[in-house]
Amino acid sequence: IERTLSIIKPDATRRNLTGKINAKFEEAGLRIIAQKRIFLSLAQAQKFYEVHKDRPFFGELTEFMASEPVVVQVLEGEGAIAKNREVMGATNPANAEDGTIRKEFALSVGENSVHGSDAPETAAEEIAYFFSGLELV
Ligand code: ATP
Ligand code: MG
Repeated sequence: IERTLSIIKPDATRRNLTGKINAKFEEAGLRIIAQKRIFLSLAQAQKFYEVHKDRPFFGELTEFMASEPVVVQVLEGEGAIAKNREVMGATNPANAEDGTIRKEFALSVGENSVHGSDAPETAAEEIAYFFSGLELV
């Protein structure tokens, strides 16, 4: 059974959408096995998004992620990584399918409400960045 790291981003926590987003995960068969609300420092956001450090939107992205609290969570289920990305929808909400989180809630390509790991290796790294083994049951 697979696990993936999900983040409910500041645009969504600010608008009190955590419950509605979690309902989408649960309806898709993803189980929320760990969850906490944290306020990332800019340095922590930069470390998390290090792979994007040369992209033009890196500054905007990391400042946004460190602007207000986020909810970090671990989702578990069969094919959790792909299933979560399906439920999230396309990065740009203008391209997201009906019924997806980003179609319903995202404000823009930057303020797009959720993050989800993109592969087994990144999922393992990202889960370990936020959660200890003791927190994962
Ligand atoms: P995520 O990694 O957040 O789950 P993703 O894999 O769909 O989303 P990436 O290409 O990994 O998208 O980009 C990471 C994040 O950077 C996006 O979720 C978005 O918030 C931001 N981003 C991507 N492209 C742009 C852009 N052109 N302008 C502003 N922000 C962007
Ligand atoms: Mg990504």
